[in-house]
Amino acid sequence: MTDKYTDLTIHSAHELLKAKKISSVELTKHYLDRIKKVEPQVRAIVTVTEDSALQQAKQADEAIANGKATPLTGIPVLIKDVMCTKDIKTTCSSKMLENFVPPYNATAVEKLNNAGAVMVGKANMDEFAMGSSTENSAFFTTHNPWDLSRVPGGSSGGSAAGVAASEAIYALGSDTGGSIRQPAGFCNVTGLKPTYGRVSRYGLVAFASSLDQIGPLTKDALDSALVMNVISGYDSRDSTSAPEAVPDYTKGLTKNLKGMKIGIPKEYFVEGMQAEVETAIKDAIRKLEELGAKVEWGVSLPHTRHALAVYYIIAPSEASANLARYDGSKYGFSYKDTDSMWEGMEKTKQLGFGPEVKRRIMLGTYALSSGYYDAYYLKAQKVRTLIRREFDQAFEKYDALVTPTSPTVPFKIGEKADNPLQMYLSDICTLPINIAGIPAISIPAGFAKDLPIGMQIIGKPFAEKTIFKISYAYQQVTDWHKKTAKL
Ligand code: GLN
Repeated sequence: MTDKYTDLTIHSAHELLKAKKISSVELTKHYLDRIKKVEPQVRAIVTVTEDSALQQAKQADEAIANGKATPLTGIPVLIKDVMCTKDIKTTCSSKMLENFVPPYNATAVEKLNNAGAVMVGKANMDEFAMGSSTENSAFFTTHNPWDLSRVPGGSSGGSAAGVAASEAIYALGSDTGGSIRQPAGFCNVTGLKPTYGRVSRYGLVAFASSLDQIGPLTKDALDSALVMNVISGYDSRDSTSAPEAVPDYTKGLTKNLKGMKIGIPKEYFVEGMQAEVETAIKDAIRKLEELGAKVEWGVSLPHTRHALAVYYIIAPSEASANLARYDGSKYGFSYKDTDSMWEGMEKTKQLGFGPEVKRRIMLGTYALSSGYYDAYYLKAQKVRTLIRREFDQAFEKYDALVTPTSPTVPFKIGEKADNPLQMYLSDICTLPINIAGIPAISIPAGFAKDLPIGMQIIGKPFAEKTIFKISYAYQQVTDWHKKTAKL
């Protein structure tokens, strides 16, 4: 069942609010009702924040009445449960943090608050952002609104499914190896992983600190630009935050791609890729050509084939260090039924973490151990440099690179749950981007029967504007992004 508010974007809702056709309180109530209606099937949300949402909506209405509304004021948003929210539970979908209530907001959340956003809930995810299907949540699995028997992707599966099911108008997710783009592709929404350092990681619970980045999941590219205008920028509380000035990302969006040079790297059309995905992406690339872009096929990025191996050494290594803090003595779950400190720590980790998190900690600890550090971690870092250089070289010739977001359409719940390697392969097209620290978006680009297909557009460091330009132009001549799941 859909209604007139189900298809709203940030920009269309902003118009309604500004024209006083609806108040933020009314809009928020609508979305809270919608959550009640679809949540039993979709299960995208860990904590619905009804009371604080209505409070924020009231404040937003005051701002609107005083002529102080900015584009995000009064608009409902979901936040992935990996970002700290003051006085509101932040679980990372883990038993370890099941009852953790942070005393502060993540910078990205704080910036949204200052812009008058209305947070309706905290979105489900793979535990500590490790996974590609949201099946690793310690609480429940999120279902894909396009086919409830299938996964929404991960790890930001709750954020993507929540937007696709219109439980909020947009969401924030985090992306370490594909966790915004892959679920965006699986759920037919627009998901951007910004350049590393573009959005502050302060208050983002760390998975792999050199790869993690916060970004928006939205209904279209213009909305993504509007969110980036708010959440980007330097933050002295994040030592890897970039000092680059933040442009107005909504400027210069047109229907024309004349003068744009786009490369198509052949390594991303991998063996085992579904034929429907390949066909849809090739059709989409032809559309970019029609819009005036000059497209060159057959670009080669040979080190891409090492990206998966590099990622699964670096990410678990950093995770093993980051997760060492959950030992029961500071915050989170703590096993108390013993007098022995060591037994307490051991049991805390044994009972607090799920199987995938334990697997990553073991992999990472092994790769960092003194006998193997050079052979694994150091080697992976060297190959990381080669991968990054290869992108640098490609960007001397092209403004952007275009690939599929994932080799397949959304798979069935349970289909890959017992096969970690198969699961890891679903991020084969997105991982290299995090390794290189560059920005990329996934936008809706077609369907295989009723299952969405995402197209990935990769840009130079800090060239989010170029990415938005291509996405926006494409969305002016296609309507994949306007299709909504029937629930
Ligand atoms: N699926 C990848 C992993 O499991 C990426 C996760 C992410 O981007 N957070 O590590």
